[in-house]
Amino acid sequence: MSQGFSTRALHAGAAPDPVTGSRAQPIHQTTSYVFENAEHAAKLFALQDFGNIYTRIGNPTVAALEARMTDLEGGTMGLGVASGHGAQLLAFHVLMEPGTKIVAARQLYGGSINQLSHAFKKFGWQVEFVDINDRSALEAAMDDSVRVVYSESLANPGGVVTDMEMVADVAHAHGVPYLVDNTMASPYLCRPLEHGADLVVHSLTKFVGGHGNSIGGVLIDGGRFDWKAQGDKYPTLTTPQAYYNDLVFAEGFGALPLGPDGTEIDIAFSIASRAFSLRDLGPAMSPFNAFMILTGCETLPLRMDKHCANALKTAQYLAGHEKVSWVQYAGLPGDKYYDLGQKYCPRGAGAVFTFGLKGGHHAGVQLVSDVQLFSHLANIGDTRSLIIHPSSTTHSQLSDVQKTAAGAAPDTVRLSVGIEDAEDIIADLDQALAKLPD
Ligand SMILES: *Cc1c(COP(=O)(O)O)cnc(C)c1O
Repeated sequence: MSQGFSTRALHAGAAPDPVTGSRAQPIHQTTSYVFENAEHAAKLFALQDFGNIYTRIGNPTVAALEARMTDLEGGTMGLGVASGHGAQLLAFHVLMEPGTKIVAARQLYGGSINQLSHAFKKFGWQVEFVDINDRSALEAAMDDSVRVVYSESLANPGGVVTDMEMVADVAHAHGVPYLVDNTMASPYLCRPLEHGADLVVHSLTKFVGGHGNSIGGVLIDGGRFDWKAQGDKYPTLTTPQAYYNDLVFAEGFGALPLGPDGTEIDIAFSIASRAFSLRDLGPAMSPFNAFMILTGCETLPLRMDKHCANALKTAQYLAGHEKVSWVQYAGLPGDKYYDLGQKYCPRGAGAVFTFGLKGGHHAGVQLVSDVQLFSHLANIGDTRSLIIHPSSTTHSQLSDVQKTAAGAAPDTVRLSVGIEDAEDIIADLDQALAKLPD
C-alpha cells in the first residue's frame, strides 16, 4: 500500500546513504563523476545506461529532489531545474517548434506572461492568452498550430481556481498535452495529474522550499500522453535523433520497466527534457539548493495546513473590515471560485489572495508602508507573511485599464499569508488599516 503524503514528503527519494550511512541527504557538491571503465562511459553517453556524467545533466542530490517531487505529484519521472522559469522553458523546448503556438491562461504569474509573450517570441514560439475557465474561448484558440495548453492550478494574482478537468478535456480533444504550473497549490493541496494534466511544473522557490531562501524548479512527466499518436507534431520525441544513434525517444523510452514492481512507464518526455533541453540550454539546479528545498519539503504538509488556516482567518477578517471593498479568496464560502476550490483543493485554497481597499491606489501605497510584521516584497510562499501593492510595483508600467485586466487594479493588495500566529497577522493588518483615512 502506498504511504501517506506526510510520510512521502519526508522519505520519498532519500534513503540513508548506502556508502556512509548519512541519514540526511548528502550534498554532492561535484561537477563530474568517475566512469567505471571505458565501456560504462560509452553506454552513459549513448543513453544505454542511466548514471551520472556531469552535474549540468544530473546530480545525486538533485535526483533525490526529483524523485520526491515525482512521487508527491504521482508522475513517472522528474527533472530538477535552476528555477521555476527554467522548468517552464525546458517543458516548452521539448514541445515547441518555430511557428507553433502555446495556448495559455490569461490568469498567470506576471513573470510567466513576460516569458511567454516576449522571450519566447525570439524562438518563434507563438502564444495566445485566453480566460482559462471559458470553455468556448479555449476551444476557439485550438487551431492546428497549438502544441500545448498551459495554466496554473491555483492562479495568480491569487484566488483563481482553474477547472483543470475541463481544460484537459479540450486539450486532449485536440491532441495536445496539458501542462500545469502547480506552484501556488503545491502537491499537498492539489495534484494536477489526478485531474487530467499531462505535465507539471513548479517554482520550488515558493511553498515547496517554503523558507524564502533558495530558487529552484522541477518539471514532472505524468507519463500518459501518447506522443506517437499525434503524427509529426512532436518531432523531438517521435523522429530519429542523430546524436543518440537515431534513437526515437517515444519508442526507446515509451515503456521501460522502471515503475513500482517493475511496471512499464513512459519516460520519453523526461529523458528528452534532460538529454536535449537541459543539456543544451543549461539551467541546472545547484546541489545546495536541492538540499535546501528537500529540507523544506519535509514540513510541506505542516506548513500548508497552517498557511491555509491563517489565510482563511485573515480573509474572513478583511471581508468584515469597513475600509476593504472586496476580498477574493477561494476558501471563503460564497466566493466565485469556492466550488472549484472545494473540488480541486479540498485541504485549503492556498495562502495567496488579493483584496481591494476603498481608498484605492494611495491607500495601497500607505498600507504596505504601515505594516510591521508583513514584509513588503515581491515573492510568495515564504514562512513569513508578505504583502505587495501590485499597482505601484510589479504592474506600475501598465495603464489603469491594463492593471485591472491583469488583476492588479489600483486598489488591489496581494498577501501571501505566513505561518505566524493568526492573531498577530490580523493585528498587524488591523493597526495598518486603522491608519488609513476614512
Ligand atoms: C515564482 C513563480 C514562477 C517562477 O519561478 P522562479 O523560481 O522565480 O523562476 C512561476 N510560476 C509561479 C506561479 C510563480 O509564483
